Amino acid sequence: MATYKTKAIILSSYPYREHDRIITFYSEEFGKMDARARGTRKITSKLAGHLESFIETELLLANGRRWDILAGSRTLNNHYIVRSSVEKLASASVCSEAIKHITKPLSSDKRVYGLMRALLVGLEKMHEKHGQKYLVATFLWQLLGISGFRAELKNCINCRTELKEGSFSFEGGGILCDNCKYKDMLSIEIDKIILNQLKTSNLKSEESQSIAKRFWQSIVDHRPLDSLDFFETVTI
Ligand SMILES: [Zn+2]
Repeated sequence: MATYKTKAIILSSYPYREHDRIITFYSEEFGKMDARARGTRKITSKLAGHLESFIETELLLANGRRWDILAGSRTLNNHYIVRSSVEKLASASVCSEAIKHITKPLSSDKRVYGLMRALLVGLEKMHEKHGQKYLVATFLWQLLGISGFRAELKNCINCRTELKEGSFSFEGGGILCDNCKYKDMLSIEIDKIILNQLKTSNLKSEESQSIAKRFWQSIVDHRPLDSLDFFETVTI
């Protein structure tokens, strides 16, 4: 059987048959993938400890029929600090779920990989809840941008006037000027500071963080993020 190696971040896994697990990961070269890890639910499994969520790892895979088979794993960064705190775990779960929802299987984008890695490294250092909220909202905002849903923040989405402030339209995916804001009655007014935070993906305020989360919901509304409610509860 042909084998290959790839660097990956484990996103999640679920039990399969009596002893196996199906692992979902984001590979630097191949993007989102599932693979079958045989025997990892047995106590004697050497592989199991290397396949927990959020571990960055080098995987050895063998081509299989339905799923490729995990033949080995070498941990590059354990990120155990993330898994040892409820808030950090909730934060990382929102982001891994977001990647699973918005990316297509076997479609690689190194920016997505880099974003997830940066998030995990950031969470390890960030002990304050407001800082974790900042990291998660910024992550969602940037992931939307990378995935082709970058909001128009320079010009009015209706009349194209250049703007320094305006009303953010979730439906329209960008800002409206004062004359055009009637086009979307649900748009919300944002000042220069908030607009600038959105432009630079530096979502320091609760207002810009809330826009990022609402924008995510308006785009991916057919599949809400299950872990977001839990995250909101533990980071109050
Ligand atoms: Zn306008």
